[in-house]
Amino acid sequence: MANKTHLNLIFRKFVKLTLRSTLFISALSFFLLISSDAHAKIKAGVAKIDITDRSVGLVNDPLYVKALVLDNGLTKMVIITLDVVALEEIGPIKAGYLSKVRTQIQRELNIQASNILINSSHCHGIVRADTDDLTVLAVKEALKNLVPVNVGTGTGHESRIMENRRYNMKDGSQADARRAYSLPPDHEIAGIGPIDPEIGILRLNKLNGETLAVLYNFAVHPIEGVPNGGNTADIIGFASKVIEDNLKGSMALFLQGCAGDINPVNYKGVDNPTDAEPLGSMLGLSILNALQNIKTVNDAEIKVVNQYMELPRANFAERITSLEAEQKRVLNSLRGTNINLKTFIALTTKYNYSNEYPSFYGQRYLQDKMLDRRDMIRLDSINRRDMENYQSNIYLMERLTRIRENLHLVKMHQVKSAGAETIKVEILGVKIGNMRLITFPGELTVQIGLNIKKRAPNENTFVVAYTNGYIYYAPTAEQLRNTGEAQEDSDTNLAPQWQIMFENKAAEILQKL
Ligand SMILES: [Zn+2]
Repeated sequence: MANKTHLNLIFRKFVKLTLRSTLFISALSFFLLISSDAHAKIKAGVAKIDITDRSVGLVNDPLYVKALVLDNGLTKMVIITLDVVALEEIGPIKAGYLSKVRTQIQRELNIQASNILINSSHCHGIVRADTDDLTVLAVKEALKNLVPVNVGTGTGHESRIMENRRYNMKDGSQADARRAYSLPPDHEIAGIGPIDPEIGILRLNKLNGETLAVLYNFAVHPIEGVPNGGNTADIIGFASKVIEDNLKGSMALFLQGCAGDINPVNYKGVDNPTDAEPLGSMLGLSILNALQNIKTVNDAEIKVVNQYMELPRANFAERITSLEAEQKRVLNSLRGTNINLKTFIALTTKYNYSNEYPSFYGQRYLQDKMLDRRDMIRLDSINRRDMENYQSNIYLMERLTRIRENLHLVKMHQVKSAGAETIKVEILGVKIGNMRLITFPGELTVQIGLNIKKRAPNENTFVVAYTNGYIYYAPTAEQLRNTGEAQEDSDTNLAPQWQIMFENKAAEILQKL
């Protein structure tokens, strides 16, 4: 009996204790829930809309406008990415797009126009004429989808899918790789330029751990194309698809980097159809790989610095004169030759096959030797001279094609710049958590991005080109001092002094973030 009462008491105490601790645990979890909510300061929302122009023929894969709205209660900003070549100036996005989209977003959605970052991937796909309205619609959708997120930043690595498209020539000049003209002959090339294998990554996770969005920055011209020649978002479309297919419910947004002189590998290939899909898939897999090491936190500062600056315009008058003089000189160095293309190809095969007896059976050469005649040897020396002259003419023709294409660009920019000393550009500095971005409205070449990153006070600083406008190529001062026989130093408005001015401005903005 006594034992029973004792046991009963112990049992009651146990129940009380359990109840108390359950209550305590419940209260604790309630408190934790509240406090974790209170710390989930940043919200993000994403949306994408298909902007592919399906009226212009075959579509290989869709082109998108994607919007990412970020709001931490203090600052609201939007990042918009488009699968297009440029924002205004060239391609299907016409003048007026930026002001229309930014004004409408500010007026209707209360996001300051200065906090809007719009990046074009620079793929050469064709988008719908109403892409402006679809852009605003995408931002509206993203704003409706705002949810609390955790934020993480990191980097990935990819060096297999791209190459620098400028070649250092033995004569000290630089040439570049375009489909508009031939590559310079191998024996004239001394070296190639740098690449940037770093992928900048921002990861936004929902509070349940699922990935909401992956924002990635990388430098490559997405111009490889697809085997069927159809409309395509190119490397970027495939990279984003790999990420979205593997992280269900997520959206991948691409910010083009300093791709001015960076081409996809095999861009000049002729043995197989060039194909962006394997290159994009490799990039996507490298990002998925890097994401495994990117941890997220539930608090992130958002800061946007928006500044305008005037950059010095180039005056190409001297360059036009020197290129025209070079064009004339090259034309006048064409050599006389007995052969034409048909005989050149036939002779090349024979002379490459047999160095000693190229023109006939060896017996004929031996017969000549026995009779002390030099008929065959004389024929070979005439043919060899004609082949050499013909080949030299071919190289001159290739050079003339390069000069003509680039002279055309230089002249176009000289007309456009007439009377103007400077060109106005908008530069954004953005901080999201530990990620810092510097933007530029043109095709920055890769060395500029490498310089800004090296000088940056914080890691995870990335340079986003092709943003909030388009002022053509923005090469280094050194590249601009080239002879004008490469696209980047011809398809530009800028004078060499621009580079240090911009790099200093970028450093100044990064200090403010
Ligand atoms: Zn380009």
